[in-house]
Amino acid sequence: MTAATDRVNIIVSRLEAVCSDYIAYVKGWKERTGRKAVGVLPMNFPVELVQAAGALPVFVQESDEPVTDGRNLIYEYYCAYSKSITDQAAKQWLDLFDGIFAVDHCVALLGALDAMRFAMPSRLVYLAQFPASMDEQASVDEVDKRMRELRRELEKLTGAAILPEAISEAIRSRNEARQIVRRLFALRRDGAINLSARMMQAVVQSGMIMDAAEYLETMLELEAALADFPPVHDRKVKLHLSGHFCHAPRPELFDMIEQCGAMIVDDDLYTGYRFVSTDVAETGDPAIALRDWYFQRNVNVPCSTRAQKTADWEGYLLQALERSGADGVIILMAKFCEPHMLYYPELRKTFRAQGVPYLLIETEHEGLALEMLRTRLESLVELISKRRAAEASGQSGIKETSV
Ligand code: SF4
Repeated sequence: MTAATDRVNIIVSRLEAVCSDYIAYVKGWKERTGRKAVGVLPMNFPVELVQAAGALPVFVQESDEPVTDGRNLIYEYYCAYSKSITDQAAKQWLDLFDGIFAVDHCVALLGALDAMRFAMPSRLVYLAQFPASMDEQASVDEVDKRMRELRRELEKLTGAAILPEAISEAIRSRNEARQIVRRLFALRRDGAINLSARMMQAVVQSGMIMDAAEYLETMLELEAALADFPPVHDRKVKLHLSGHFCHAPRPELFDMIEQCGAMIVDDDLYTGYRFVSTDVAETGDPAIALRDWYFQRNVNVPCSTRAQKTADWEGYLLQALERSGADGVIILMAKFCEPHMLYYPELRKTFRAQGVPYLLIETEHEGLALEMLRTRLESLVELISKRRAAEASGQSGIKETSV
């Protein structure tokens, strides 16, 4: 192992430690700074407002713990994320946050917010509901209004005025970190760095938790260390990972995919490229810039939780495959994630029509049967390898796209 690899591993281990116990990180931060921490829910929260109020914005993460105390507060057929955050609230783990804020509102998230209100009576649980319909002028005006309400509530909670200069400063630091992470995505896509999917996820997910200045400093350190990191040498099957809203897939799943002879070259996961896809404009009124960021995010990486005639996820995916040269797609879908389930037939239709090999994997909070998945993953890798071999010998016989 080279010194560069050592340095990268040490930095990424620090990030993985933050992700594996985000509650401990928040506790430590509050003790160190004496400031407030605000739990925010995915996927479109403008964290810059919280940062500008001097508090720590933290995306509440799914926990590895089995759902127990919260089980009777939320329907069994809600997604893993909504069940886990309800459970964490019921166990009073989220009481360390001074308030919980959200702007997104799928059915499961609304259910979780109600359950959290019930389980955390001493904490404000506030929804500034942003419209999901993205094409109308009325939605733009509505987001403006909600953003103002959100700002007022945050000011009340923190006791600090949220000044435009402070928002601009938060935007600058967050943009800089996002840009570094996007450069790392580009290096991985081009094969210039052999960064595993587990490592890549830790890089993104820790940015949902850590203090912005500390995170930016770590990203600068990581980018410098990666300058000497080994490139990709072999010609493994290249895959794009797609989907998995609101929470991080288990890293063991990434390991399994890579052990089956594939490498992940790109993704549009929420705890992946989707999270860092879009910067906030640094000129003009920062409140307007945050509003525009909300709309632009769905153009840059479309999401099936939003409705927009001019942005479609399948079109984005085909372009992403073209850009990365990925041979196929693994769709990671959280079980009972309605917005993803309802859109999936569109994705499948496109992959079949375009001859893109794909595999759907449904994830659950507890009991992900990794060994059973191995066979399906190996079949996908084999299908792609056969296609490659056939293409190399000038044949075009293999038409199947799914396994
Ligand atoms: S978008 Fe999907 S994963 Fe996110 S809270 Fe809603 S159902 Fe759960």
